[in-house]
Amino acid sequence: LKSPYHGGHLEVIVGPMFSGKSEELIRRVTRALIARQRVAVFKPAIDDRYHATQVASHAGRSIEAVAVRGAVDIRAHLAGEGPLLSSPEAELPEVVGIDEAQFFGSDLGPLVLDLAEAGVRVILAGLDLDFRAEPFGCIPDLLARAESVEKLTAICTVCGAPATRSQRLIGGQPARFDDPVVLVGAQEAYEARCRVHHEVRR
Ligand code: ADP
Repeated sequence: LKSPYHGGHLEVIVGPMFSGKSEELIRRVTRALIARQRVAVFKPAIDDRYHATQVASHAGRSIEAVAVRGAVDIRAHLAGEGPLLSSPEAELPEVVGIDEAQFFGSDLGPLVLDLAEAGVRVILAGLDLDFRAEPFGCIPDLLARAESVEKLTAICTVCGAPATRSQRLIGGQPARFDDPVVLVGAQEAYEARCRVHHEVRR
């Protein structure tokens, strides 16, 4: 149950939608809980509130989590408002999990590196690519800095091959490259696709 790393480190789990990132995060966190380690799990809040919630996988498993508006909220939560790591006695969790990490801003990187420096095992799960198959936000930097990287695949909904990309459909049609990431009132869906069957309209 001990991780192979001496002290704090960063583990990143990436892949397209439906590849089992949340499942894998839940699996690692559950093992840490069985080992009676102190664990805190965070995910981005959809609304403007900081509240208790769950990380749930598409297959239905879930664990307790805290919904936060950004990395600043995670620091506040872990430090009880004071600046993180200011007092060496401050009890940090042994394991910090973060789901949907691609939705955090560029301040996630400095936070997770501070945590790893302070001895915390940080487990991040998130999309490596956006719906256009372009590297997603803060993830590339974190992939480079991580001690461990796991790239998961889903199953392509068209041909059954390993899927590495997330197909975005708007009204049943592949989304356009310039479509805004948030489309109010649109009929949207996502499917896992392989490189051959992933389509982006130009
Ligand atoms: P992620 O966090 O990567 O979106 P989840 O852990 O939430 O993935 O869900 C993974 C689960 O989704 C799989 O174990 C499977 O039960 C289900 N699933 C649904 N569609 C697919 C698909 N196209 N490929 C693989 N798994 C799928």
